[in-house]
Amino acid sequence: MEDRSIILEVTFKAALLGRWQSLELNCEACGVSVRFDLQRLRARTKHRVISEFVHRARCRFCGAPPASAYLVKKLEGNDPLRWMPFHIEEWSKDGNRREALLTASHSATVGRAAFECTVSERPKQFITLRKGTWLIATSRPDPPPGKVARLPDRKRDEMSTEKSQGVG
Ligand SMILES: [Zn+2]
Repeated sequence: MEDRSIILEVTFKAALLGRWQSLELNCEACGVSVRFDLQRLRARTKHRVISEFVHRARCRFCGAPPASAYLVKKLEGNDPLRWMPFHIEEWSKDGNRREALLTASHSATVGRAAFECTVSERPKQFITLRKGTWLIATSRPDPPPGKVARLPDRKRDEMSTEKSQGVG
């Protein structure tokens, strides 16, 4: 499933923030439609606003201006897990690729419990509990998956401070 927009009077930045993924240009004469990856196009073009790029774009086959242009994005409607913050995920053996989003939760406590269950069900798999890029728990001590930051040690520090204050 895809969503489309004909509103092109937006900057590349705004379109990317709105999760638009590509720009489709259609040539009526050739019956050809070409899709550009928005991220790559933004890096390549000097135009800031998408309509400016479209106005100057020409069909690479016949040289005609595009008959129509759309912003396109894939709809993620079938995966409600994505929109919950705490993700339990399975990674490839080398930790470089996320294989699957297994389950998700709105609550950290439930997320933690689900993580423990998942790890005991799949002891050989590499499982993590994440919130965004924060790694909250992992079934393997090292290395953490690529592009994933470890949780800051704040909590541990707070706990040790409390302890030392109690002692002092
Ligand atoms: Zn053409």
